[in-house]
Amino acid sequence: MTGVRPRADCRSCGFEYALTHDELIHRHLTDGSICLGSGRPPAGEEPCGFWCGRMVGRVSWPADLASADLSQGHASTYVCADPEHHAEAAAWVQRKTGHAGVFVGRAELTRA
Ligand SMILES: [Zn+2]
Ligand SMILES: [Zn+2]
Repeated sequence: MTGVRPRADCRSCGFEYALTHDELIHRHLTDGSICLGSGRPPAGEEPCGFWCGRMVGRVSWPADLASADLSQGHASTYVCADPEHHAEAAAWVQRKTGHAGVFVGRAELTRA
């Protein structure tokens, strides 16, 4: 069909909503207040991006991507300062690799 916006599941409430041009979930209400999933990527996507603000580090598995054997699989994503987003990123990495993601701060990343 033409003119129909793609839709995806909200990562917070689980209901399906239209996506914005940036492929983020449209603003919506849950229980009468703005849903935390509003303006965020759909369920199953990496949690952080330019909409989060400043990136403070990376969540990845393995933690040290530079010297690890990546044939076992790997995933990494940059994260903002929000601890809830770190948890979501760790879960995202776990879905990809079978291992919970490890947070590595920006200072440690640049020290290498
Ligand atoms: Zn929602
Ligand atoms: Zn974030």
